[in-house]
Amino acid sequence: MAVPARRTSKAKKAKRRTHYKLTIAGLNPCPNCGEAKRSHHVCANCGFYDGNDVKTKEA
Ligand SMILES: [Zn+2]
Repeated sequence: MAVPARRTSKAKKAKRRTHYKLTIAGLNPCPNCGEAKRSHHVCANCGFYDGNDVKTKEA
């Protein structure tokens, strides 16, 4: 079984991990107000969904 010839230095490991980033899946800007919203969900900021004001609509 292959074994690394030498251990990876802290600097090498840290440089490799600069590409590791936290991402939240399905988070897109709202087309109405521009606030980050989850796709397929009503916007928490303005209450719009698919171009309609869902939050303030009565009956
Ligand atoms: Zn919005």
